[in-house]
Amino acid sequence: MEHSAKQIYTLAQSVTANEGKKTQSVQIAGNGTEMIGNESLLNRAQRKTISRAMLLSLIDVAKEKGATERTKSYWNAYYCCTKLIQHNNRLHANYCKTRYCTICNAIRKADKINKYYPVLKNWENPYFVTLTLKTVKANALRNRIYEVKKAFKTINNKFKKRYQRGKGMKIIGIKSLECNFNPKDKTYNPHYHLIVPNRQTAILLKQEWKKQWNRNGQFHCSNKAQHFREVESLERDLIETIKYGTKVFTEPDPNNKKRIKKDMKIYTRAMDNINAAFKGKRIFDRFGFNLPQQEEKEANVRSVENYKLWEFAPDATDWINTDTGECLTGYNMPIDLKYLLSECIDIDKE
Ligand SMILES: [Zn+2]
Repeated sequence: MEHSAKQIYTLAQSVTANEGKKTQSVQIAGNGTEMIGNESLLNRAQRKTISRAMLLSLIDVAKEKGATERTKSYWNAYYCCTKLIQHNNRLHANYCKTRYCTICNAIRKADKINKYYPVLKNWENPYFVTLTLKTVKANALRNRIYEVKKAFKTINNKFKKRYQRGKGMKIIGIKSLECNFNPKDKTYNPHYHLIVPNRQTAILLKQEWKKQWNRNGQFHCSNKAQHFREVESLERDLIETIKYGTKVFTEPDPNNKKRIKKDMKIYTRAMDNINAAFKGKRIFDRFGFNLPQQEEKEANVRSVENYKLWEFAPDATDWINTDTGECLTGYNMPIDLKYLLSECIDIDKE
């Protein structure tokens, strides 16, 4: 993260220095993104618009808590893809690569799906599994995440040893740790989503999970809150599994199913609590198998002189050509999103 912070700073400087003097060059890397007929740029403009509003409020909260490192990472995410360099009809940007950026998370997610789909599609009869626990308050969250990861490791090691002794089946799968906030009870629910190759694995994991958490007279884990079901659409379930940490928008009362999405809110303080608790923790992982080797793409850093610059100004919802004032995507914020971002970001104390 520190590394990418530096890159952004350098790029921002060199671009600023070049404005108005197009004889100078600017550095770009990689293949960039296609510009012509690329509808995903509209999504990116929307992500950037949401990201910005969310990050500004996260910055307020982190600053107030004195969390300097996190404040820095939030600013990094805030500036992600603010400037785009257009060269040969392709767009180049500097990506913050933080977990707090909706643009980078979307890229990371697509990348994971592309890597895992070809492997998982060969699994015989995949199951989607959810492993949960009783919820905790904010002050217990980091410790709970530690325990959750430890519990899974213990279970995985046990199955591994059994398999090595020839006394059990090989347990493999992918898993991701997610945490949502319940604004009504002010609680957090770190839980796993997994995809495993067959029903037998799903059953074993559920059994062991309950055993782990309900030992020594303790009861952390109810039977009815552990789920598994057959995977019907592998793509849909991969998307469901490969999420990064938490949702951006939350319903104020998750138990009231009648309410429609209109009352969604961004609970900034809760989101910052989750970000703090997950810091340095791996969110997505595989267990019991490896991916086929893949070629590393070269960065291919080069200087170009013939370029256009597009910038996402502080109050804008689109990238604007710094010479002509032209809009890049034509994205207009829908009225409900505008309302949400201006009126429904909640930074109240718990
Ligand atoms: Zn980013």
